[in-house]
Amino acid sequence: MTQIPFKNSANTDQKNNTIQGLIEKIRSYNSGFDASLLQKAYDFAESHHKEQKRASGDPYISHPLSVAFMLADLKLDLSSIIAGLLHDTVEDTVATLEDVEKIFGSEVAFLVSSVTKLSKINFQTKSHAQAENLRKLVIAMAQDIRVLIVKLMDRLHNMETLHFLPSEESRRHVAFETLEIYAPLAQRIGMSGVQEKLQNLAFAVIHPESYQSIVARLEEFHEKGKDIVQSVVENLQSILKEGGLAAYVYGREKKSYSIWRKIQRKNINFDELSDLFGFRIIVEAKADCYQALGLIHHAKVVIPNTFKDYISTPKANHYQSLHTKVLGPHGTRIEIQIRTKYMEEVAERGVAAHWHYKQGAPAHDVKKYQWLQGLLDILEKTSGAEEFLEQTKLEMFQDQVLCFTPKGDMISLPRGATVIDFAYNVHSEVGNKCTGAYVNGHVVPLKTELQTGDSVQIITGQNYQPSSDWEQYAISGKAQANIRRFLRMQKRLQFKALGQQIYTKELEESEKQTYVKSESRVLKYFSLHSFDDLLAFLGEGRVSIAEVKNVIQNAQLLTRPLPKDDEYLNSPKKEMGAVQGPFSEMPIHYAGCCHPIPGDKIIGVVVQGKGLVVHRHQCDLFKSKQEENGKALDIHWGKTENLFFSGRLLVSLKNTIGALGDVVTLVAKEKVELVNIRVLKRYKDSFDIMMDLQVKDKEHIERLMGLLRFLFSVQSVQRM
Ligand code: MN
Repeated sequence: MTQIPFKNSANTDQKNNTIQGLIEKIRSYNSGFDASLLQKAYDFAESHHKEQKRASGDPYISHPLSVAFMLADLKLDLSSIIAGLLHDTVEDTVATLEDVEKIFGSEVAFLVSSVTKLSKINFQTKSHAQAENLRKLVIAMAQDIRVLIVKLMDRLHNMETLHFLPSEESRRHVAFETLEIYAPLAQRIGMSGVQEKLQNLAFAVIHPESYQSIVARLEEFHEKGKDIVQSVVENLQSILKEGGLAAYVYGREKKSYSIWRKIQRKNINFDELSDLFGFRIIVEAKADCYQALGLIHHAKVVIPNTFKDYISTPKANHYQSLHTKVLGPHGTRIEIQIRTKYMEEVAERGVAAHWHYKQGAPAHDVKKYQWLQGLLDILEKTSGAEEFLEQTKLEMFQDQVLCFTPKGDMISLPRGATVIDFAYNVHSEVGNKCTGAYVNGHVVPLKTELQTGDSVQIITGQNYQPSSDWEQYAISGKAQANIRRFLRMQKRLQFKALGQQIYTKELEESEKQTYVKSESRVLKYFSLHSFDDLLAFLGEGRVSIAEVKNVIQNAQLLTRPLPKDDEYLNSPKKEMGAVQGPFSEMPIHYAGCCHPIPGDKIIGVVVQGKGLVVHRHQCDLFKSKQEENGKALDIHWGKTENLFFSGRLLVSLKNTIGALGDVVTLVAKEKVELVNIRVLKRYKDSFDIMMDLQVKDKEHIERLMGLLRFLFSVQSVQRM
């Protein structure tokens, strides 16, 4: 085949595919890099892959080393190249991510683990939509664009050595995946050099006959046309030189895949293809591009409607160039692209061309930012509504995790989402009955945070239902709304059941009959809609049974008066949230027998007509009355920061003058409100007093107890 000068087309020089060669290559653009660390990475990979061979029969290390070379060709940073060397160690050998992190640091470990994760995605390119989803998934996973570049180089080398794979089926599978997923990804980040290579390699496997025939025709064309190509190059060069413009001109053969696509798309045959060669003019500055264009257009016959200015309007992936077509020798059409060196670099390497390696750049964040900035620039430069939407969607993936159902459907959730969010996204009933999940085949609890790429199968149980702590683990709006609605419904059912008990037990038969007759008046009095509402209000304590009785018996009562101010102030509502657990929305009463305060272990019991009564866990009185009290409810303290609670102390004092005064003075000095004090018992030398104090919590009362014990007259202090 005729050699056409073409920059960047040379593959890694296989003869020089050694670690020494790699070190030299990196040194050519980054002289101060840590070669010993690179050597260490090579040794690590080499020893871990020692027993393995490629399908070609080569030692396995040849693959990661080739990937590292390709990354060095792109002038990537050392971490990326080391990740290239190590990219298969965690997946395919006994090496662990912890080993990698210990030796090479967290940045390399992150890159290796991300590439490993990407490798685990099983692409099944059944439909276009699916392929598109997968492309989004890959981009989302490769939040650090270097991950994607390492993965692309991995794929490129695998494609270059694909013919060694013995099974045709697996060769075709890999080739399809490359064409559907990886080549478009390379295009999306502007790496058209990589894109073309991937496409041509895949094309050769998927349509071997078409590929062979195009290659044969191209060779034939080369033989006949090489003088023409050379003469066109010389002609263009002289036009530019005469115009006083320094430029580099070369002819470039179209690639087999793009020729095939064109034949397919335009429904023409090979001979009708007029432009098997393209010509490029590379100049120094942007203004030179337009000058070159002017010189060419002046000297040649321009084919109408073929001029495109991608410099003033770059493509979405940052591609910039001028395109035009002119008439050539023997009536041929000549396609010409005019661009600067930098534009050429961007056209070939895309996002990698934006990578400005700064020697000794310390901050990992700065590097990362530059990369992301490169991607964002590409994403921002969009034209057309469809493209804009597409690109905007991609940006949104930055704060999403993309997971799969067992059937392979993709579900996107906000970052930080848990199994609960996933379950509610499937269906609200699945959410309500969710007990856990298989994530990537392992059973995990509900609060497990999901990662992009996870495959999630929800486990449900008939007797399971949401509990209030689910709300703190769910972060998606859908899950939260469903959980709240379920909990509200549950509470209402509980209140209703309790209200029913109160109604049944506390009302006389005659009162019930009266109620039935005057129901509409009673409901109107309380501004309620149904008997169920009334029961729920009774259970919740928003209506007392005494009030209900009163209304039933007094036919003249029509509307409920608004609560008086002091009633309102004393309403238990102001302490809402002080106690959490079942029935905690009811009026809360703190038991007078044990005076619970925050910090005490507590239990609750529902008392008809009173609400939730809170006792200390070790309350003897509660225990002795356990049977009539019923089952103790599991409750705990909630928001109590701005509340005061009544704590009761039993203090034993020496029978000395001023003993009581000392105690009261100390309490006042500590600014604790003393609401009640009583002398209980007098002995010969001492006496016991009981004090009720307004305290914040257990710690508060214990500090006061400590101070009291310091008093000369105090013999003992204890809580009652
Ligand atoms: Mn690999």
